[in-house]
Parts: sequence; structure tokens; C-alpha cells
Amino acid sequence: MASIEMTGLTKNFGELTAVNDLNLKIRDKEFVALLGPSGCGKTTTMNMIAGIEMPSAGSILFDGRDMRTTPANKRDVGFVFQNYAIFTHMTVRKNLEFGLRVRGVEKSEIQRRVQNMADLMRLNDRLDWRTAKLSVNELQKVAIGRSAVTEPEIFLLDEPLSNLDAAFRAFMRTELKHLQHEFQQTMVYVTHDQIEAMSLADRIAVMDLGLLQQYGTPNEVYNKPRNIFVANFMGSPSMNLLPCRLTGGDGAWGLDFGNAGTSAIEDGELARRCKSAAAAEIVFGMRPEDIDIQPSEVGHPGLNMEVTFVEPIGPRTVIHLAAGDHQVKVAKDKQYPIEIGATVKAAFPKGRCHIFDAESGVAIGLE
Ligand code: ATP
Repeated sequence: MASIEMTGLTKNFGELTAVNDLNLKIRDKEFVALLGPSGCGKTTTMNMIAGIEMPSAGSILFDGRDMRTTPANKRDVGFVFQNYAIFTHMTVRKNLEFGLRVRGVEKSEIQRRVQNMADLMRLNDRLDWRTAKLSVNELQKVAIGRSAVTEPEIFLLDEPLSNLDAAFRAFMRTELKHLQHEFQQTMVYVTHDQIEAMSLADRIAVMDLGLLQQYGTPNEVYNKPRNIFVANFMGSPSMNLLPCRLTGGDGAWGLDFGNAGTSAIEDGELARRCKSAAAAEIVFGMRPEDIDIQPSEVGHPGLNMEVTFVEPIGPRTVIHLAAGDHQVKVAKDKQYPIEIGATVKAAFPKGRCHIFDAESGVAIGLE
């Protein structure tokens, strides 16, 4: 059993607050990704869980036990860094054995676990190679295997795939899922790559400027972003975010996009949310894949826009639209026949639009 509970966790480096009042509960055997841009405090959070950094304030509990006075080597935590920390003068086998020997594990058990890990990480034919002869991809497999083989209750991975090439990253994502399934560990995974976080994690903690922005399942953070930061950070191409003014009132809400035109709101759910708006200035959001392209004369709520650019990128086509000061990207499956210069309606998708307060950036009326 290894749940992790962080309460009011704060880390200051002089004037800089790297992690600010973080409250996060990670369940036993859960796979949680700490996701955010460079410098948002992910690694510092990870280091505090590992015991490498001491918090300036707040607490960390493992299964209800306060870890504040427990040194790193007594926490039963495995750690894998971006830059594989392995012994280059040793063979792969010796690297895998190392942590088990240090812990005084019996010889036959060491052999069993190393063999099992070699099978899992597909390192069988490399076991007696010196690590100096391995490729970057193989080195990181050894680094992950070396830490995982000790079967820590908590496994911390800090950007372990970011030095690897794209094809191997995709392969390793699957391997990491297998690893977690096999060893049933609580995993905390630091990444700035939203695809990696979405594909691996049970829950994602999105961070920015040392603050937790949202904590939820991949589905929740993608489909119900709690603020503009999360809406913008998740998804590629990212969500279209159009500043506009809310007009009308109960029964007949509308949106004024300035020199790009106006539109009625006919979506009941969106109208319900409009009631919670504190000010008329809002930001209207639509995911590129949710927008419907209609002939411009069709009377659906939306904006008439001109096609300015078309990107046919294999499995889908990204269509760039513009009207007045606003630009929108629309993503369609496969090849989508459309001409640059055509005028179309970017129709607002029912049940799939987002509204945010323009000043605070917080989602309006989200339940
Ligand atoms: P990255 O992906 O670039 O590693 P991160 O989200 O993991 O970013 P952290 O490494 O946790 O971010 O850093 C958060 C902030 O704290 C940054 O501004 C960083 O410069 C600062 N910082 C981290 N460690 C120290 C330290 N030991 N001394 C001073 N400042 C630090």
C-alpha cells in the first residue's frame, strides 16, 4: 500500500516560490502525471516526494505516515531521471542487480527478478553487454529497469522519455503501462508532454507557476478545463480561444465578436452557464475537432469566416479560418476538400463550447 497525500506543500528558493500550497492526493497504485511547462515546479514536487528536497511548509504523508523526518533512502521510493543514471563500467546485468545487492536480497531472488525485468524490458540479448555499448534508447530501458527491479512501493519518473526518439517514446509508453500493471506500484510521472500524460495517467495534475491548475482524469482535464491555462495547454492544435462580449440575457443570449460578427447561443447548457458570468467580457473556447464547417448561408450559430490555409497532415486536415481580428483552427478527419479563399460558417458545436471569465481566466458555470 502506498498512497501519497500532500497538504499545503510549499517550496521556496530564496524569493522564488517553486511550489505554492500544493494539495494533492494520489491513491495507492494510481498513475499520476505532473504536467506543465518548464519551471512550473514539477521536479521540485517530485524531489520533495523522494526526500531529496525538504518542503518549506506543508506535509507529505505516505499511507498516513508523515515523511518529514524520513530520509530519502528510507522512503521505499524508486526514481528515474531524464538523464539515465547508470554505471557505464558495468554490464546491463550488473546494473539491474545493483539495487538488489545493496538491499541484501538473496542471490536466487536477484536472478529471478533480473531475468523477469530483462524479459519485460526486452533486454535479454543485452544482459552481458557493457552499458557503454548501448544506444540511448537501451540506456534508458536499463535505467528504468534498474530502479523498477527493486519493486519500490512508489515509483517516480522525471521526464524519462524526453531524450528518446519519437518512435521509441511511443513504444516505451506502452512498456511503462505494462510495468505498472506487473508491479502494481504507485507511479508519479513528470512530463511537459500532454500526449504522454493523457496516454499514461489515471489522473493528471496540471501545474503552472508553482500552482496546481487542475487535477482530474485525462477526460476531465481535456473536456472540462477549469481555466484558460488548462484549456490551452491540453490538445494539439490547442483550443480556439476567442475574446468576445456576452450580450442579451436569460432566454436570448448572444456573443459579440466585434469586427468578426455576432452569433446567437442556442445551446441550452451553454445558456445555463452564461447566467453565472460575472462580467460581459468573456473568452469563448472551441476545440478544433469539435467545430462543424457549414456553408456560410446556413443559419446555425457560428461565425462566417474565410479559409486562409489548409494543412493536410495525413490522418487529418487542419483548416485555418479568419474573420476580423479572430482566427480559428478546425481539425477534420482524413483529407477534407476545401479551397483557400472560400467563405464558410464555423458552426459552434452543441454541448462542446467553453466559456471563461476574461479577467480571471476561470471557466464560467462549470459543474
Ligand atoms: P523543468 O521541466 O524545466 O525541469 P519543472 O516544472 O520541473 O521544470 P522545477 O525544476 O521544479 O520546474 O523548477 C521550478 C522553479 O524553481 C524554476 O524557476 C527553477 O529555476 C527553480 N529551482 C528549482 N530548483 C532550484 C534550486 N535548487 N535553487 C533555486 N531555484 C531552483
